[in-house]
Amino acid sequence: MSVANGRAFLATPGPTNIPDRVLQAMMRPAEELNSGAIVGLTESLLADLKRVFRTQAETFIYAANGHGGWEAALTNVLSRGDKVLVLASGRFAVGWGEMAAFMGADVEVMPGSWRAAVDPEAVAERLRRDSGHAIKAVLMVQIDTASGVVNDVPAVRRAIDAAGHPALFMVDGVASVGCMEFEMDAWGVDVAMSAAQKGLMTSPGLAFVAANAKAMQAHGDADMRTLYWDWTSRMNVLAYMKHCGTAPEHLLFGLRAAIDMILEEGLEAVWRRHALLAGAVHAAVAKWSEGQALSFNVPEPAQRAPSVTPILVNGLDPAIIGDFTRDVCGVTLGSAIGDLTGKAFRIAHMGHVNAPMVLGALGAVEMALQAKAVPHGAGGVAAAVAALAEGAAPTA
Ligand SMILES: *Cc1c(COP(=O)(O)O)cnc(C)c1O
Repeated sequence: MSVANGRAFLATPGPTNIPDRVLQAMMRPAEELNSGAIVGLTESLLADLKRVFRTQAETFIYAANGHGGWEAALTNVLSRGDKVLVLASGRFAVGWGEMAAFMGADVEVMPGSWRAAVDPEAVAERLRRDSGHAIKAVLMVQIDTASGVVNDVPAVRRAIDAAGHPALFMVDGVASVGCMEFEMDAWGVDVAMSAAQKGLMTSPGLAFVAANAKAMQAHGDADMRTLYWDWTSRMNVLAYMKHCGTAPEHLLFGLRAAIDMILEEGLEAVWRRHALLAGAVHAAVAKWSEGQALSFNVPEPAQRAPSVTPILVNGLDPAIIGDFTRDVCGVTLGSAIGDLTGKAFRIAHMGHVNAPMVLGALGAVEMALQAKAVPHGAGGVAAAVAALAEGAAPTA
């Protein structure tokens, strides 16, 4: 017997739940492509993305997924043969580096753990050895969605500065922008990128890049530039050039509604909501782990992402849990990828999520653990409720 009917709930780390308000904003006719409505919409979004990235830098919107955003970021600042240092902490920075290698960069991966954040000291040490400054860019993710690691962006910036190294600092914020503090300017990030379908609650299909003055200078010399992604071309005053062709209108209608929701709630409040809900998930997982079959992938609490939690499963196939929550409860969990394939499942808690959604997902997992007789500490959901009761009391 299934109790899955009712609203289906995605607890996957992208795409995430799209708010009804965003869906409704997309349900309208197309506009003439150079109409005032589309020109104004594009301008308002480019301006508000600066607020979301916390930057005065130039912003760009692409009809592309996150991989497109990666390519956009690389192609605008690199030349063939440029050396790039990738700081590994799971799957995603490595994937970005693979893309750079495909495009003709000379890519070095600084090995990292799937269970811990990038070590800023190791970054400083590696950059000090690059006395000729061959390394043109350092690539890192803020949150690695595969490992559930959150990296310390300002600490890595300080490490680059401590080494006196001029490389561009390029940060992937796909699973973190709109989920946790991200301060492009205050932290000295030169190129930041993100995508629509995670913390930003919009349909997949839009990527965002922000580039500061130093990145713009590198752009001037870059020989990997191609017209579709090109910043100079997109900074043209002609509205049509801002999208290098027809604007992805309906995605922009949706994004406008999503960013309105974020700014109405307040960006800091959005971060705080994510932190509280992540705390609830962590409280539940800590309880379940007492049964010895489940455990956190990231042992150090401060290095656990506030948007996604991979949970290691010992001695059984994690699909047993995910199949149950989907088929019996209507909750779709994230399966594990990369090194964790077959060894873990992921609970996403990013974007359009609130207490009942997260408690519902945790409840479905706890049901699965009971129904499938997976050894676990009892009371995970109760621990999550307690964490929220303590942290999320109404403010006067
Ligand atoms: C999802 C994700 C990507 C890739 O986004 P796609 O839209 O699937 O191409 C890149 N980086 C991170 C950190 C992600 O979580």
